[in-house]
Amino acid sequence: MAQDLERLKERISLLDYLQRHNWRPCHAGTRQEFVGLCPLHQETRPSFYVNPHKNLFYCHGCGRGGDLIRFVQLFLDLPFRQSVAHLEQELIPAPGSKLLAQTVAFYQVQLHRHPEATRYLEYRGLHDPAIIEELGIGYAPGGNLRGHLTGLGHPFQLLLDTGLISGQGRDAFCRRVIFPCWQHGQVVNLYGRSIGRAFPHRLLPRSKGGLFAWDSVRHFSIVILVEGLFDLATLWQAGFRNTTCAIGTQLTPAQLAQLSDQPGRSVYIAFDQDDNQAGQKASHQLALRLRSAGIQARMVRLPHGHDPNSYFIAGATTADFTDCLERAQQL
Ligand SMILES: [Zn+2]
Repeated sequence: MAQDLERLKERISLLDYLQRHNWRPCHAGTRQEFVGLCPLHQETRPSFYVNPHKNLFYCHGCGRGGDLIRFVQLFLDLPFRQSVAHLEQELIPAPGSKLLAQTVAFYQVQLHRHPEATRYLEYRGLHDPAIIEELGIGYAPGGNLRGHLTGLGHPFQLLLDTGLISGQGRDAFCRRVIFPCWQHGQVVNLYGRSIGRAFPHRLLPRSKGGLFAWDSVRHFSIVILVEGLFDLATLWQAGFRNTTCAIGTQLTPAQLAQLSDQPGRSVYIAFDQDDNQAGQKASHQLALRLRSAGIQARMVRLPHGHDPNSYFIAGATTADFTDCLERAQQL
């Protein structure tokens, strides 16, 4: 019983649970803690502290504290056993997750049937079949997803609601290379990179989830953070398996909390080196935010105009990128 409870608490962290229920940390307080308005009592100034490392909370306003199960007991006014049952329910896949998993599997098959997609991956420097398979990369040729999914028994309305299909019945991701975003073993979103003239980036209209592939990256004490999924795929291919991605430069509070969930972690920010300095500014701001959360952050400088993906396409080697990491500036 005690073991089961520990396992349950490992599978849903207190911070994840709070954020799923719309708790927003106002600012990182002391090192390695988050503070926000108390969900358990009315207040206007934040006094509810969460320590993600210890997985514990304490409110200086109402004097209550404890672990995840204790929080659920107080938050939902449930006895202990029902609180545990409630948390087990939270782990059951959300509606639509099976649909997304089947979409990903379908797009993966299409990748190998459409030479324009494999040509695009080669053009972006991605050639290792094991990495392509591991990341679950697929391709949406357009025109055939709706028939496939309704054939599997999914109602058309669900396809519309999820945003996979437009009102006209077309693939929303038509002519895009697809990366599935996983969280806690479920597909939570899809990222589609246009290979044609459409706007380059597309996500389903829902949360982009936590940091990309965080389950496999979180145990590293040194983490590389990049902007885009092609940057991540390139670095994984070059052996930098400690790379994660926020899909963009703006981290959600949940993503920021993930980076900060282990004391002593170093984060190397390798955003694009833009002409207009946008990537450099974003990495500086993020480094400041991480520092105030007690995390050491370094800004990786790549040659002018490059992102990690284009740097490798231009001929950089693992040694070149290691050199950039070693020269990264600490804030
Ligand atoms: Zn309180």
